[in-house]
Amino acid sequence: MLKNDQLDQWDRDNFFHPSTHLAQHARGEAANRVIKTASGVFIEDRDGTKLLDAFAGLYCVNVGYGRQEIAEAIADQARELAYYHAYVGHGTEASITLSKMILDRAPKGMSKVYFGLGGSDANETNVKLIWYYNNILGRPEKKKIISRWRGYHGSGLVTGSLTGLELFHKKFDLPVEQVIHTEAPYYYRRKDLGQSEAEFVAHCVAELEALIAREGADTIAAFIGEPVLGTGGIVPPPSGYWEAIQAVLEKHDILLVADEVVTGFGRLGTMFGSDHYGMRPDLITIAKGLTSAYAPLSGSIVGDKMWKVLEQGTDENGPIGHGWTYSAHPIGAAAGVANLKLIDDLGLVQNAGAVGTYLRDQMQAALGDHAHVGEVRGEGMMCAVEFVRDRDDRVFFDAAEKIGPQVSAKLLEQDKVIARAMPQGDILGFAPPFCLSREEADQVVAATMRAVKTVLG
Ligand code: PMP
Repeated sequence: MLKNDQLDQWDRDNFFHPSTHLAQHARGEAANRVIKTASGVFIEDRDGTKLLDAFAGLYCVNVGYGRQEIAEAIADQARELAYYHAYVGHGTEASITLSKMILDRAPKGMSKVYFGLGGSDANETNVKLIWYYNNILGRPEKKKIISRWRGYHGSGLVTGSLTGLELFHKKFDLPVEQVIHTEAPYYYRRKDLGQSEAEFVAHCVAELEALIAREGADTIAAFIGEPVLGTGGIVPPPSGYWEAIQAVLEKHDILLVADEVVTGFGRLGTMFGSDHYGMRPDLITIAKGLTSAYAPLSGSIVGDKMWKVLEQGTDENGPIGHGWTYSAHPIGAAAGVANLKLIDDLGLVQNAGAVGTYLRDQMQAALGDHAHVGEVRGEGMMCAVEFVRDRDDRVFFDAAEKIGPQVSAKLLEQDKVIARAMPQGDILGFAPPFCLSREEADQVVAATMRAVKTVLG
């Protein structure tokens, strides 16, 4: 086994880490934790320190760590057939079975699933399919995609553009011109408007209408949104938001993409967030929870309306010119089949709903009255605690004070609990595996209380 020093040196010398302060890492100033093993909701680093992972990796290890059923399915698949492609109609038992399992669980009106590797490439596929669709329909000018500020949809050129976070645009010459942004449904942050929740929904609708009017409806192809804003701050929409937004989209013949990379397969306590909020999407993005991250796999679920046009397109133009070498990779597909079966067998969607609600209620009871906690919010197994300088006037902390990162660092240091300081605003995010027990939820809440007390008194 390699000595820690050796591994650290190789890490600094060779490994370009994503979403990392490169200079600090190279100088050895940043945390570099090497994870060795994991089981249930706990991960263990190379020194044997156990950490309660209340963010399920990057809200993806939904069934929890160390599931032997999935490991076996992966090993069996690798032994029998590690790879064959899915081009020109090829498939494997695993990929065909998984496509059926996904459609069986998907909201009504969905037709087929296109497989990719991660959420970013699935959204890239979605944008290409949307453009293809409008070209086949003979309206080549209808191409712009509306996303929301604070939305997260990936890190690629178009998907990084869809992502409505400054850090993902700045210095990358993004967003590209086909992507435009509208107001996030983040009621708590818009006290300045002095509106009721219902008035704020009307405001979001008016903003969208104004954007469409400015750009011209005949130039706008689609609207993309996460049922619950995730990386942008774990923000459930105000009541009636999706219904009101959909009415506008339908009026202007604009497609709806539900990005369910985080919410798909149970995180909100329902199989899909679209069902949870009565969304009627034309495309659904899936990734993380599809395999619980045991292997990389994503998908774009295509609705009936688009599917008919895509078929027509190939009759007119030949095979669709869009494919990845690893589309429907058999090992990912085998992991997906075993994962979805496990979710059913263990009733994990119900557990995500029940224990998620418990976690949030306990967090609210513990921290809801703290002078620097503005809001405890969430849905299903997603929870956020937002810190403010002044609760009554809703004055936020200066970003330079790094309150969110400080609390998350203390949580880790004092009680070995992992929560995520969300990238914009002082928001501590929780999205544990669905198998979290009530005792583990209590542990997370007690540790969070201690960390908040240490940093904020
Ligand atoms: N969409 C959403 C809603 C996400 O949360 C993420 C990742 N956090 C992505 C897309 C991108 O997925 P990936 O990182 O697998 O490319």
